[in-house]
Amino acid sequence: MTPDRTIRSAEALAARGLVPPERETALARVAARYAVSLTPAVVALIDPADPADPIARQYVPNPAELETAPGELADPIGDEAHSPVPGIVHRYPDRVLLKPVQVCAVYCRFCFRREAVGPGAEALSPAALARALDYIRATPAIWEVILSGGDPLVLSPRRLARIADALAATGHVKALRVHSRLPVADPERVTAALARALVRPELATWLVLHANHPRELTPAARAACARLVAAGIPLLSQSVLLRDVNDDPATLEALMRAFVEARVKPYYLHHGDPAPGTAHLRTGLAEGQALVGGLRGRVSGLCQPDYVLDIPGGHGKSPVGPAFLDPEGRTVRDWQGRTHPVPPCPSPPLSGSGRPSGTRPGSPRARPA
Ligand SMILES: *Cc1c(COP(=O)(O)O)cnc(C)c1O
Ligand code: SF4
Repeated sequence: MTPDRTIRSAEALAARGLVPPERETALARVAARYAVSLTPAVVALIDPADPADPIARQYVPNPAELETAPGELADPIGDEAHSPVPGIVHRYPDRVLLKPVQVCAVYCRFCFRREAVGPGAEALSPAALARALDYIRATPAIWEVILSGGDPLVLSPRRLARIADALAATGHVKALRVHSRLPVADPERVTAALARALVRPELATWLVLHANHPRELTPAARAACARLVAAGIPLLSQSVLLRDVNDDPATLEALMRAFVEARVKPYYLHHGDPAPGTAHLRTGLAEGQALVGGLRGRVSGLCQPDYVLDIPGGHGKSPVGPAFLDPEGRTVRDWQGRTHPVPPCPSPPLSGSGRPSGTRPGSPRARPA
């Protein structure tokens, strides 16, 4: 066995030269509050000489985390309010989150579940996992199961296969989606056997890769993506818009291009959730809209993520990207910022209810699919 060279403490961060020795005591207080873990793959990406290193900013603790800003919440996206049984979050009718574990290979400083994840957090017991799977089996409206956590890919292929078997046997679950950072955090662990464990003929298995900076898409991470694709798993991305990590046009563009080069279709760019002690990592919504609007046209359509806000209180995600159509639906902006009249529409203009024409209940689609 190779020794575990994962960094899990302020002391180990100082010993590796990733933080100055005089900061060790302050950071030990942060590490006592929020879990720390940097895998060798992530450490290798950090330039210790750069005090503003965008990889370090994502994983190395910061004393600012001990300051909780107004409006920050322990459960920012309201998971608890929608949990019918332990390990399940059922917010939308057709899909649930299944969280078999609360541990991750790395711990992100901006994590929206930072109060729940960490090495001390319990995985679901076998009995609790059985109850969560019973809930899915007994709820035919569940069309998709999203394995989340924690990072579900820290489980062994054998345990993942048992979950996939149970979902395939329901008959009504048609899609299995896995949310993971492991292809970046520990690419060698994403083996062909792990990928195969997730695939069943009865289910379409998709994987959503979490990465926030183009440097995270290393050759090893891209090879891990290739193993997933080879197993028949289409890949999507999710990223968090983070101050001084990816909140500039060049970095965001390079990140989206790196995803597409790795055969990962950009899916969501999340506005930062108000998790405790993360104010220094969040941006404004208007900044996010300008950044995302700047990608349109200049960068391939394959590279366009949806900019989304998870509404605090458990109300779900809403797109908050820039509007190209004016609120009255009369003019539309092009990618260079010029305004044009919209083409004449056969259906009535927007009603006072704000409902777009052509999407009234029972009305035919406004344009062919
Ligand atoms: C984010 C989330 C989903 C997935 O949302 P999509 O828009 O389908 O990607 C599902 N359930 C919960 C509870 C979520 O937080
Ligand atoms: S990998 Fe995901 S769940 Fe784990 S700490 Fe990072 S953001 Fe949170």
